[in-house]
Amino acid sequence: MPHSVRAVVARAKGEPVTVETIQVPDPGPGEVLVAVQECGVCHTDLHYREGAINDEFPFLLGHEASGIVEEVGEGVTNVAPGDFVILNWRAVCGECRSCLRGRPWYCFATHNATQKMTLDGVELSPALGIGAFAEKTLVHSGQATKVDPAAPPEVAGLIGCGVMAGLGAAMNTGNVGRGDSVAVFGCGGVGDAAIAGSHLAGAHTIIAVDIDDRKLEIAREFGATHTINSSAEDPVEAIRALTGGNGVDVAIEAIGLPVTYEQAFYARDLAGTVVLVG
Ligand SMILES: [Zn+2]
Ligand SMILES: [Zn+2]
Repeated sequence: MPHSVRAVVARAKGEPVTVETIQVPDPGPGEVLVAVQECGVCHTDLHYREGAINDEFPFLLGHEASGIVEEVGEGVTNVAPGDFVILNWRAVCGECRSCLRGRPWYCFATHNATQKMTLDGVELSPALGIGAFAEKTLVHSGQATKVDPAAPPEVAGLIGCGVMAGLGAAMNTGNVGRGDSVAVFGCGGVGDAAIAGSHLAGAHTIIAVDIDDRKLEIAREFGATHTINSSAEDPVEAIRALTGGNGVDVAIEAIGLPVTYEQAFYARDLAGTVVLVG
């Protein structure tokens, strides 16, 4: 029997979101019903509401969540009822041209639940195939990853979007290594995760750039060795001054603005790498 649960829905472009009662089906083959415990608010949810992703309203927002598996459908073996899981939006197919080349992170056919959640009989479009601003959501089993139940749910949920995006940008795409210098533009959730990833990878100089001193202070807690408030000084010049005039080995842009794309480009060493995440 479908589950009636409360959820946050964006009905139309630019309109305020509303709390609605939606219908969530019982899990079918390969699907998992998750009772959501916590869900982060990501900028991408705002992009959905603004119609900047696509026009498939109404959207069921939320995609950075943790929860408890409530029911599993036929054939699901990776999780079981009662498991504490985080949700992710990259359940790879293993068969597309990118997966077959050993690059599953670029998968072109990631899996989502097959059945639709609905509002008044209208199919909802779950944000990034998850839709976790809801008491319960339906996902593909590959989107549910078991984690240590000792992890606080409000922290674990962040791994599903901001943490993997930022950490991956530094450790995988940027290939930050021991002794590298790194600059991270934008110290929100993704930027801070990129700083943490650079720190884990052994970077010796990690320069955080933002226009908010409060965020720059927090960036230090994640491993930033230097901070630059780009509303007070030119970040490109400041980064060059901190790197012997050369620029950083890896410049990571975690905002999504043309001006910071340009700054990241000019702040890198000529033999360096620019990673655009924002
Ligand atoms: Zn997100
Ligand atoms: Zn694939």
